[in-house]
Amino acid sequence: MLTGEQYLASLDDGRATFFEGRRVDDLLMEPAFATPAYAIARGYDRWYSAEPGAVNPLVLAPRSAAELRERADVIGAVDLALNVTYQSLMTLLTASGRLRGADPVELARMAAYVDDAMARDIRIAECITDAKGDRSVPPGKQDDPDAYVRLVHREAAGVVIRGAKLHISAASLCHDLLVMPTKAMKPGEGDYAITCAVAVNSPGVRIVNTTYHPKGDDVRHYPVSSRLSMPDGFVVFDDVFVPIERVFLDGDTHNASVFAHSLGLWERLGGITAMVRQADELVGLAQLIAEANGLAGISHIREKIDEMAIHATLLRAGMEAALVHAATTPDGFFYPDELFTNAAKYQGAAQFGRMVQHLHDIAGGAVLTAPTIADLENPETGRFVEKYLNGSTAVAAEDRLRLFHAIRDLTADAYGGWHLVTNLQSGGGLYAQRLVTRRHYDMDRARALAREAAGLADPAGRDEP
Ligand SMILES: Cc1cc2nc3c(=O)[nH]c(=O)nc-3n(C[C@H](O)[C@H](O)[C@H](O)COP(=O)(O)OP(=O)(O)OC[C@H]3O[C@@H](n4cnc5c(N)ncnc54)[C@H](O)[C@@H]3O)c2cc1C
Repeated sequence: MLTGEQYLASLDDGRATFFEGRRVDDLLMEPAFATPAYAIARGYDRWYSAEPGAVNPLVLAPRSAAELRERADVIGAVDLALNVTYQSLMTLLTASGRLRGADPVELARMAAYVDDAMARDIRIAECITDAKGDRSVPPGKQDDPDAYVRLVHREAAGVVIRGAKLHISAASLCHDLLVMPTKAMKPGEGDYAITCAVAVNSPGVRIVNTTYHPKGDDVRHYPVSSRLSMPDGFVVFDDVFVPIERVFLDGDTHNASVFAHSLGLWERLGGITAMVRQADELVGLAQLIAEANGLAGISHIREKIDEMAIHATLLRAGMEAALVHAATTPDGFFYPDELFTNAAKYQGAAQFGRMVQHLHDIAGGAVLTAPTIADLENPETGRFVEKYLNGSTAVAAEDRLRLFHAIRDLTADAYGGWHLVTNLQSGGGLYAQRLVTRRHYDMDRARALAREAAGLADPAGRDEP
């Protein structure tokens, strides 16, 4: 296993990563990368074991529903790079049990890769979302054939791929990029049916980063994002050679969507786990700022907080149901239930904006305009900030100020905007979750119940619900 220090040293491997128009050769000298890199390093130290053959227990596949349940809580609290590594490895294990008529050589490569990744203790970014060009046109009919990542050359030792994967969380701070088709491929689109693991420092890989990491020096104004930022990467594969032992799907259009569906499941479980915690955090902020404003007893404020609490509770219920109803692969690995995972993720994403609206409505305009802690400390302004930023006398003005900063940082500034969009789009957007929910929902039972209510005979003569 790697220590945090070894992880930080491993980033100096010649990877081509860019930020705001510049190439970043030393990630640790750039605050927007150093802060998350050190957070990942702390995660390495937290799980490090010097025992020969030791593996991070968090990336081992759950062998029971109880283990899956326990893991969800722990994974929800770890850094994003470890989180996406877990999801990547679980995706490969889940997919290998679902591939129909798969090439046994490719299956063996996947199993060997999972073992090797665990042994080397690497971090793996999930690369599924293609550039996609005109969304109404399939990959094989795009004006630019590179709109979806594709294979451009095949030889005995490996393959060469070209294209781009967009919005890839933590790409610049991981070691490998797990590349897979973003959707089902049709006959004739075999070159787009490619799943493989690419080392981040492979020649031809370039990562253009964006981040909501705070730009100001005084991080007290950004109490959350200054600790939790993580860059997203626009990852270009400019004719990248991938050794054959890292190629897990090549040309099999029939199985192309299996990886996307497997990743979507783990990605959405990760999304719900984060949303459950986030929903409770929003309830807490609404309650605390209502108390600080002296309004905690007012009925319309209480009703909004009640609605937020009900939302948080139902989200938690969806997550628990997804974990309790876990299914198992032929190899005995447990994964969450598709229906509950997708329905809960949909609900969490669809209602997030409304919950944030309640919080802003309760908190007031100082969410955006509260002076900084430095203004409080400035002798020329501090006593006025303290005097006029006071709400309820039971709450210190500085505490009220800090609550406003936390609410703005979490919901109304760069990090808040990131969350607003990410909650919707991560795991494929609302539409994707609706599709999977529809596929797994028991519509026959619903129909039968409706027929019974209406006194209609079942035309197919099926049993009663
Ligand atoms: C902060 C952030 C982090 C992310 N991290 C990752 C990551 O680590 N790895 C990764 O692979 N992806 C990641 N994503 C990408 C995410 O999965 C996508 O944003 C999402 O799948 C939507 O794709 P898109 O952004 O290309 O939007 P589009 O595909 O353009 O979708 C926009 C809208 O159009 C609809 N639409 C698109 N095509 C069609 C069609 N043919 N028919 C009908 N409707 C259509 C969609 O349903 C959606 O409503 C991340 C996204 C964000 C915002």
